[in-house]
Amino acid sequence: MPTPVTLIPGDGIGPSIAEATVRILAAAGAEIEWDRQVAGMAGVARWNDPIPEATLDSIRRTRVALKGPLETPVGEGFRSINVALRKTFDLYANVRPAYTIVPGRFADIDIVLVRENTEGLYIGVEHYVRIGDDPKAAAESVAIITRHGSERIVRYAFEYALAHGRKKVTLVHKANILKFSQGLFLDVGRMVAREFEGRVQFEERIIDAMAMHLVMRPEQFDVVVTTNLFGDILSDEVSGLVGGMGLAPGANIGANAAIFEAVHGTAPDIAGKNVANPGALVLAACMMLEHLGDGTRAQRIRHAFEGTIRAGTVLTRDLGGTAGTDEFTDAVIAALG
Ligand code: NAD
Repeated sequence: MPTPVTLIPGDGIGPSIAEATVRILAAAGAEIEWDRQVAGMAGVARWNDPIPEATLDSIRRTRVALKGPLETPVGEGFRSINVALRKTFDLYANVRPAYTIVPGRFADIDIVLVRENTEGLYIGVEHYVRIGDDPKAAAESVAIITRHGSERIVRYAFEYALAHGRKKVTLVHKANILKFSQGLFLDVGRMVAREFEGRVQFEERIIDAMAMHLVMRPEQFDVVVTTNLFGDILSDEVSGLVGGMGLAPGANIGANAAIFEAVHGTAPDIAGKNVANPGALVLAACMMLEHLGDGTRAQRIRHAFEGTIRAGTVLTRDLGGTAGTDEFTDAVIAALG
């Protein structure tokens, strides 16, 4: 029985990289029944809504989506796409793997960053404070960290480590200064870590030191777990260590749904030109296959993809080659054997 998955091709280069990904998965024999839906500008064009109900209904049904990049329409009355998806499905874990394909400055990076996606400073509790005539004399943003939210994200990181044969979880915090919010995250993290003692190593790093260690000796890190704001910043830093966003996949995971995506945007400057690199979405699709229990096929696709890049003869322009999206996709399919 094919597995139903919601496919949101997205805007800009989205449809072309989504098609490339679908072709590669089909060539690898993945039995998926794609339920094609729209969002972003395509959603506005069809339903006047960047997150149409039909798309949300499809994800409710399939519980798994592969999403191309979306353009959030500017203007009043439109909901923020990412916030709506995160809230609707309580996608609390943002998972961003980054690993070396072609050794550059670093030879052997293999980091999975697990970012808490629903709490912290990004919770949206903010206001201005009027003083005298100045309505914006001060501004206040509140960080909310809960025991529940901390426990489930740290547990997710440890369980991910166990399931993927990884050795160590590094918890990143700033509890030395933010003693309450970050202190709670650290306390809960230590408590969860004790349950995994002897199975997964645990270490703690303060965020500023972590930022430095990541650029000095990133090879020492394995799974990294942190709160929302720090995770937002560190995940881009980690992508930069292995060559930027073009090859960066991401997953947003909740208890009842998971959405897999490329980290980059719609690349309007190259849309419609058949030059986009489908790599990030292909790697996101591999994460999706693992999530669906088809890890062997995910490995096979990754192997073909990495082999194509290492061979260096058929590369898209962002990787220093001259191949188009279609040609690169054909090369990956040929490498599947
Ligand atoms: P971008 O990631 O779209 O583009 C940045 C640069 O990277 C551009 O030069 C682009 O050509 C290049 N690039 C990106 N992906 C590429 C690929 N697969 N192959 C080759 N080159 C690639 O970032 P931006 O220009 O800041 O954003 C454009 C639009 O994307 C905005 O509307 C933004 O809101 C949206 N966006 C969406 C998401 C998402 O849906 N997850 C994420 C980021 C940005």
